[in-house]
Amino acid sequence: MLRINDMSILLSGIYAKQNKDKSFEYMYSYLTRKTAYLTREFIRDGNQDKELLKNTFIEAISWLFAICEKLEVQPQDSFYKKFPGCCPYCLGNPCGCIQTHRKPEKIKSATAIKEELFYKYNSITAGGHPPYAPRMINEIYPSNRNIWSIFGGFYHSSRLFEELGELQEAYAKSIEDKNYNKENLHDECADIYAWLFSLWGIIFKDLDLGQALQDYYINGCPVCNKKECECSSYSGKISNTDQKRASLEKLKEELALLLKNEEAGEYKDNLESAILAINDAVKSGKDSDSRRTLSEVESVLDSMEKNSSKLSKLASNAWAIYATIIKFF
Ligand SMILES: [Zn+2]
Ligand SMILES: [Zn+2]
Repeated sequence: MLRINDMSILLSGIYAKQNKDKSFEYMYSYLTRKTAYLTREFIRDGNQDKELLKNTFIEAISWLFAICEKLEVQPQDSFYKKFPGCCPYCLGNPCGCIQTHRKPEKIKSATAIKEELFYKYNSITAGGHPPYAPRMINEIYPSNRNIWSIFGGFYHSSRLFEELGELQEAYAKSIEDKNYNKENLHDECADIYAWLFSLWGIIFKDLDLGQALQDYYINGCPVCNKKECECSSYSGKISNTDQKRASLEKLKEELALLLKNEEAGEYKDNLESAILAINDAVKSGKDSDSRRTLSEVESVLDSMEKNSSKLSKLASNAWAIYATIIKFF
């Protein structure tokens, strides 16, 4: 099982060299972008693509690891120092802040609270085997899971973005205020980790995060496939317009084959219309045209799939191409 430290080392091995000269702003913009995509995926209620969700999650948390390295924040230490198996405010596990108004029930002095947190941190990290973070955080805050099951992902989404905002504010202060205590940055990173871990624990209960991360990076950087990433700035898996056009053409060829097939006769009009839409989208190069087109293709294929097993089999190639394209938009 990979600990937070191990994940940090694994990612540093792939990306440290590439990220050395990148600015905080560059990295923060990617963390924000990936977090935005992550929230988009988990808010798709009942219609989540778990594989895509998992990959998006890993991309988002990977940028957080990269930022921590930039800011010289140790993710594992920061996280368990802030959440040493209990809530940092009421010291409870589970958290009882609602009853105690964010104060511990017994200990009153601020110094004693600080000592207690430090004692707990030492005891849970002793031997180098701290508890599995996603489980631990959801045990401290069981309400996270309750809120998720009642309201879906909106609460997690807004809390994540709130914490992202606070990280940027802390960073700005660390530049502008010469007396600023950089420990604040550690705390802010720990808060983002906490919300991400909570999410992982809720969505992927039985899947070990470290294992998933290791699988995702099994061949090094998944974009350039190098053990030490060689990607240029701003590059990524998102294809350029030419690549998008080429893949739409491929989908069109597949639909044209279906059109020729007598078995799919009753879908002639739908297929012709989808092909015309692809032509249009290729010509305009606009993402919104492509999205509309893909949604038309999806409904044709969907209806073929539901019609009969024969038609479903016929549509499978087109589905496979569709699945690779839809991720571009
Ligand atoms: Zn609490
Ligand atoms: Zn790369």
